[in-house]
Amino acid sequence: MLVRVVGAGVCHTDLIVRDQLYPTPLPAVLGHEGAGVVEEVGADVSSVDPGDHVVLSFDSDGTCPSCRDGHPAFCADFFAHNFGGARPEDGSSPISQEGDEISGRFFGQSSFATHAVATDRNVVPVEKDVPLEALGPLGCGIQTGAGGVINSLSPDPGSSIAIFGAGSVGLSAVMAAELTGCTEIVSVDLVDGRLESAREFGATETVNPDDADDVVGAVRELTGGVDYALETTGVPDVAEQATDVLTQRGTLGIVGAPALGTRASYDVNDLILNGRSITGIVEGDADPQGFIPDLIELYRDGKFPFDELITYYDFEEIERAVEDSENGDTIKPVLRIGDA
Ligand SMILES: [Zn+2]
Ligand SMILES: [Zn+2]
Repeated sequence: MLVRVVGAGVCHTDLIVRDQLYPTPLPAVLGHEGAGVVEEVGADVSSVDPGDHVVLSFDSDGTCPSCRDGHPAFCADFFAHNFGGARPEDGSSPISQEGDEISGRFFGQSSFATHAVATDRNVVPVEKDVPLEALGPLGCGIQTGAGGVINSLSPDPGSSIAIFGAGSVGLSAVMAAELTGCTEIVSVDLVDGRLESAREFGATETVNPDDADDVVGAVRELTGGVDYALETTGVPDVAEQATDVLTQRGTLGIVGAPALGTRASYDVNDLILNGRSITGIVEGDADPQGFIPDLIELYRDGKFPFDELITYYDFEEIERAVEDSENGDTIKPVLRIGDA
């Protein structure tokens, strides 16, 4: 289908591809948090009609065991469908520059554009009474943080959790931790302003590693060790700290992606003797078709104010939007691309 893009969020994954930590061939049209209005549909499209409002999310093949089990974020063909820069079916791209095809269909969309080509698998129809321009980040960053807590870690009420990084993923995770009834929520970040935001969204404690000699000791002193931890920064040293703050039978979820090939280490006996678990999480292990409407429902009820993370930019200001997110001034930039 052809989708006229109204808004598109800027996500860390766009930047690691720009920097070629992930090998999508360049030049490419990036952008993978689009929201827009369906303009045209092909003969085999069944989920939407022209005029429908949609959120664009990640793509998957729909046929592998993970997809069939309802876990499309762990699609066996995830890389080709989201980072390949082309239609996995025939290697073609819907985008060309001066007659030569360039990488498109990034995350099944390439939504830093006025129009995106997407499929039934990666568009989610949404109601028209919610602000469409705000919804794009639900397709990746917000879904990643909220789903990492709700779907993957799935804490029991009364649990403790430490969330490393207070960007859009980490703060969405803080909101989700409060929603699931965690009573001790520790946010760890180097930017004091972000820690203040974390407190507004439900963090009960904050730690700035610049102020603490020993981050692990500081978190353990506050909590006695946490039941859950979520690592959103993609920094291997932080992943190690996030392992060390766990209490007995605690679980760490890792969502922050470093360069391909990056390794982190842990004390094997600490893992064994404490019964700790470490789990990797893509896209919050969400099935966007169900999870994004659920998040919108929580937003409507005032329980998931993800729109407060957003700062809007005109499409022409894309470079400034990226700079502001890289230097920490903006938590979630969203580009205004077309009229709703
Ligand atoms: Zn699959
Ligand atoms: Zn993303």
